[in-house]
This record gives sequence, structure tokens and C-alpha cells, in this order.
Amino acid sequence: MKFDPAVNIQNLLQFGEFGDVNPSITDSATFTFMQANTMLETFSGEEKGCFLYSRHWNPSNKYLADALAAMESTPAAWVTSSGMAAISNTIMQICNAGDHIISSMTTYGGTYALLANYLPKFNIQSTFVDISNLEAVENAIRPNTKIIYTESMTNPMLVVSDIPKLAEIAHKHHIKLVVDNTFTPMIITPTRLGADVTIYSLTKFVNGKNDLVAGAICGSVDFIDSLIDVNKGTSMLLGPVLDPLRSSQILKNLHTLHLRMKQHSQNALYLAEKFTETGLRVIYPGLNHHQGNGLMKQMMNPGFGFGGILAIDMETNKRANLLMEKMEDAGVGYLAVSLGYFKTLFSCSGKSTSSEVPEQLQKEMGMSEGLVRFSVGLDNNIHQTFEKIESCLKGLI
Ligand SMILES: *Cc1c(COP(=O)(O)O)cnc(C)c1O
Repeated sequence: MKFDPAVNIQNLLQFGEFGDVNPSITDSATFTFMQANTMLETFSGEEKGCFLYSRHWNPSNKYLADALAAMESTPAAWVTSSGMAAISNTIMQICNAGDHIISSMTTYGGTYALLANYLPKFNIQSTFVDISNLEAVENAIRPNTKIIYTESMTNPMLVVSDIPKLAEIAHKHHIKLVVDNTFTPMIITPTRLGADVTIYSLTKFVNGKNDLVAGAICGSVDFIDSLIDVNKGTSMLLGPVLDPLRSSQILKNLHTLHLRMKQHSQNALYLAEKFTETGLRVIYPGLNHHQGNGLMKQMMNPGFGFGGILAIDMETNKRANLLMEKMEDAGVGYLAVSLGYFKTLFSCSGKSTSSEVPEQLQKEMGMSEGLVRFSVGLDNNIHQTFEKIESCLKGLI
């Protein structure tokens, strides 16, 4: 039977203490106990039914984490103050000093910087590979490799990761497969395809309003418990907890995510096809000629499309900038980093969200300096949007 993450969320019965249809917001840092012994058992992790302190667990965060676990079909989840917190905490929980990571060479710029520039100070080294080259992935494995790290659809080249095959390689060598699914919520469910941990920046599609920063880690009960262990847990000790007020806000937005993803995907496919007609190089996994088109069809949950992100190649940075400025003037959307907003956002990847990636590596991943990435909005009349873009393109191609 086909998996439907939206139905899984809908089937959850979560309501507030007075029958409120939205779960009550718990605005407390600490929690009282009726028996001193229960506090002791909660500290040791023996007793799981009680709340102790909000850096550890908070009821509002638990509601959101449970809903995300339902969406991802994972036994557990924990929510963080940012996507980067989810990524750094997951990696630092799994790796010790001296360990090694294999990462897709195309990832979110912050992730690349974490792996390439920050983790080496703890003697955690990373090898960057073309994640679609499974032989290169396997050849990069060392005795101390602990993680294969990728994004379901990588940023900004939208290379689709073969999650089942990567999981097979990882598990054969007792390595964890960690997948950032920020670009494709609802569409891809990495854990069902073999990933051990699924990560989100909730800042993007999941919340969808560009009014907050948040993240999530979805995985096994053991893994989530280990993150918040009071003695050794990375999240408990580094403390990147999400504010419960924000959690309750994200939970409400999560309930419309399936509708939004369908509309983002439908609009992005329309634009990708129209851009193709203009003769531009277009990168969108919904197009037949794209590297990941067949793979996506095998991996995706039906009905949500190929996602809301696409890129076009304006070849030079100058032309990319001219186009973006004209589009902003014409009301197509905003020249801004980030994605998953109800309005269309566009930025030149090489000079923004991937500027942490060295130019040589940008070239290797096929990223031109004129690559313009679009996060396509929820426009009700995408035909009209394209007409605006078309007039902006005049004289530029
Ligand atoms: C934005 C983003 C992140 C980082 O998330 P923050 O919420 O900004 O910390 C990580 N991965 C991907 C794919 C992203 O787009």
C-alpha cells in the first residue's frame, strides 16, 4: 500500500487540556512533581511519562515532534531551534573525535561549512563525493566512517539521492545514513526508504510562512533518547531547544503542508516546462531529462509532485542579477535566500546560499555563476506569473 504522510498526521488525536482543538501551549520552563522519587526516575530516563525541564522536553514540543514522527513514519522525533541545530546535533551525537563522514558535495552551504570548516577542529573529517556515483560513495568508506550524509534532493543542483541504494551501502558497513529532507517533505519519506535519521529545517516548507527558524530530527526512540540524555546527550548539553510557542505555531502550519506541497509542485512544473520552451537550461526533477526523474518516480509518495524548487542557468552572474532585479520590480516575488514560502523567492546560488562552497567545487558540481534558484510560491495564476517572467527575460536571452 502506498504511504500517505498527510493521512498519518491527520489520524493523530492531539487536543488540549480543556478539549481545545489545538493542543494547549505549555508556557513553562520547569515542571513540578508530586513525588520526589519520580523526579529522580525522570532524570535517569527510567520514567518517561513526566516532563522535567523544557530544554529536555516540553509538551508543546512533544506534540509537534509526534506529528513529525507520524509524517516520517519514525518511532520518535525531537524539535530544534534551527535546521543547522538539527544537523550539527545529529552529527555530533553519532561521531566521536577521529571519525569520518562521507557527504554529498552538493549540500546546503551551512552544512558544507560545518563539515569542511568546523568539525575538523574536533578531528572529524569529511570526504565530499558526487552522491549519484554510488561507486565513489563506497570507495570513500574508511574504517572510521560513521555517517553517509545527503539531502533527498541536493541544493542547488537538485541531484536526487538514491536513498535505498545508499542505505544498502551504509548498512553493509555499519554506517548511519542521515538524510536532510528539507526540500521534499510529504514527497519523500527517507526513513521508509532505509535512512536512519531524517533531518528538517522546519523554517522552509514545513512551516511555510518565513516567520521563524526551526528544525527537527526524526529517528529511532534510542537515537532521540540518546540526544537528550542528561549526562551525554548532544542536544541536552548544547541546548538548541525550540521555543514551545513556536512549536505550536509550526504544528498548525504542518496541517496544511500537503496542500501547499501540491500547489508548489504544480506551479514549479509549469514554470519548468515554460522555461524549457525558452531554450534556457532548466534544472527540475519533474522534467524527463533530469538525472533524478526516474529515481524520484520510484521513491516518491504519490500525489505531491516533484517539489517547489527549480533552477535556471543565466550563465553569467550579471545576467542573473539583472533578471532577479527585474523580476522583483515586476512583482514575481522577492530576491531573497531561503525557500518554501507562499511567495516566490529567487537568489543566485553561487553568490548566496552556496557561497560557502569553494568555486572549484561549484564548478565540479556543474553550478554556473549564473544559476538562479527559484522557490516557487503558491500563486493561484501561474500563467500570469510566467508572462511577467517572460517580459523580464526579454533582452537577456
Ligand atoms: C535552510 C536549510 C538548512 C538550515 O536550516 P536553518 O533552519 O536555516 O538552520 C539545512 N538544510 C537545507 C536543505 C536548508 O535549505
